Amino acid sequence: MTNVVCTWVLSPEHRFRDHPERPERLRGLARWRETTSLPLTWLPVTPATEEDILRVHHPAMWERLQGECASGPRVIDYAPTYVTPASCQAAREAAGAVLTALRAVLDGQARRAFAIVRPPGHHATRTQSMGFCLLNNVAIAARYALAQGLTRVAIVDFDAHHGNGTEAIFAHDEQVGFLSLHQWGIYPGTGDLEDHPQARGRIVNVPLPALTGDQGYARLLDAVVLPWLDAWKPELILVSAGFDAHWQDPLTQLGLSAEGFAHLARGLVDAAEEHHTGILFVLEGGYHPPAVAASIKAVLHVLADAELPEEAREHPSPYPEPDIEDLIRRVRSLHSLP
Ligand SMILES: [Zn+2]
Repeated sequence: MTNVVCTWVLSPEHRFRDHPERPERLRGLARWRETTSLPLTWLPVTPATEEDILRVHHPAMWERLQGECASGPRVIDYAPTYVTPASCQAAREAAGAVLTALRAVLDGQARRAFAIVRPPGHHATRTQSMGFCLLNNVAIAARYALAQGLTRVAIVDFDAHHGNGTEAIFAHDEQVGFLSLHQWGIYPGTGDLEDHPQARGRIVNVPLPALTGDQGYARLLDAVVLPWLDAWKPELILVSAGFDAHWQDPLTQLGLSAEGFAHLARGLVDAAEEHHTGILFVLEGGYHPPAVAASIKAVLHVLADAELPEEAREHPSPYPEPDIEDLIRRVRSLHSLP
């Protein structure tokens, strides 16, 4: 088996009434992570510093967010995104946990890592917290890696929602490639196939029809994700790993199963080996707690090179999948994928 570095930030005090982005999302992992026989090394977390945060976010945004948290609990947008007096510290710890795991990868302590954190990050832009996201954790990690001297970072975002914040932050940053697989027509409404003509081959959006599931994602892995990584030649692979593309998720209509997520993770981990890079998974969304637990466990088994547990093979989507071959052809042609 292979050692995997992990970090964990549950943020129990970052919660708001019956909001779906709640600590209970990670119910089913809290005790398991203490008792599993997988070779997982759980590192103590250092919160992100102001310097880390300001590599991505505008100082005025960070200042405003602190003011909103201090006057919370309150809702700050229509998503709805909420803050409480504990939320700024929670966001600093979540971003810090991603950086803690990243440093372990960059230092060579491990090649593979998973930061299991909340609040999530990929909707937050340089100037705006949104979509349940306060600070953009994966973007903060990418900028940190660049500050350490890396010059080519890949971010693969398989959360069901488009990673609009990450995309906007790196829209004009030639050192960061971004590929998003997301359901078309849901929040936040961005991520069209044709967006960002200035960055063909670097910013790749794959807007998917509802019910795309294990078969469709396996095809996308082979025909889009892996060829894109081959062409982009990253020195580090970051994964915005949301588990709301699971068919049981209450907020979306995609069709992945825990085994489907594991297959996707296997492809990404193999690509990291092939490109001799580290790979860091960062938790984004996922709102059906049993599906989140089963999917994260399955991915951790992949990272550790362990055989999948029986529960990962349970509960595949019962719905038929749409044909996405035409979409795949268009994506491959638009971005000249090999
Ligand atoms: Zn999401």
